[in-house]
Amino acid sequence: MTEWDAAAVERLHDDLVDLHGPAERDGEHGSDAAPGDGVRQLLTTILSQNVADENTRRAANSLFDRYADFRAIEDAPHDELAETIRVAGLPDTKAERIQRALAAVREQTGGAYSLAFLDAMPTDEAKAWLTDIKGVGPKTASVVLNFHFGKPAMAVDTHVERVSKRFGLVAESASNARVHDLLDDLVPDDLKYPLHVLLITHGREFCTARSPDCDNPVCATYCDCDGC
Ligand code: SF4
Repeated sequence: MTEWDAAAVERLHDDLVDLHGPAERDGEHGSDAAPGDGVRQLLTTILSQNVADENTRRAANSLFDRYADFRAIEDAPHDELAETIRVAGLPDTKAERIQRALAAVREQTGGAYSLAFLDAMPTDEAKAWLTDIKGVGPKTASVVLNFHFGKPAMAVDTHVERVSKRFGLVAESASNARVHDLLDDLVPDDLKYPLHVLLITHGREFCTARSPDCDNPVCATYCDCDGC
């Protein structure tokens, strides 16, 4: 069983890179991004909850093609908005979450649909502001903060959580929110994004939920779980 500390996480990262190749960050983030991109990221991440990437893309295209701006999305009739994003699943819930998030941003800024104010906040404070919005959990908040703002927040999706538990990075019994906190503490800041990407890749290519393929050098080093 690996004793996990920052140095061990760095070795895991390097071994995952050897197996899968480096994780590239795409797109601008932080002050290099266009105004409104953070809000777009937030809405797209809400759409992505519990659905495959392709359906997220289709729903996001449908949403941003149909409405001219964020005000129009916030003001849209509920049923119309839900129909527009139906391909993402849970259309009523996600329509409510999207409109609630837009209202929260507008009220916070006094009228602008921009998340730029989060950039000046410490990561914990920014995460708390986002997760105060009903329907925005730690994963959605961490995606926005890490992908858009480059802040040190580790986003934990189903693959990251499963592989982290099998490698013993976190306890099997930890809740998703707890896994976020534990990995935020354990993973060095500069590795939070690449390790997120690499653990997803590893979860998709080897450690699938139903039929894991345990025959690979990374698992030989780090996994001694019952599934092997
Ligand atoms: S050894 Fe098998 S069960 Fe363990 S992490 Fe790797 S693929 Fe998953």
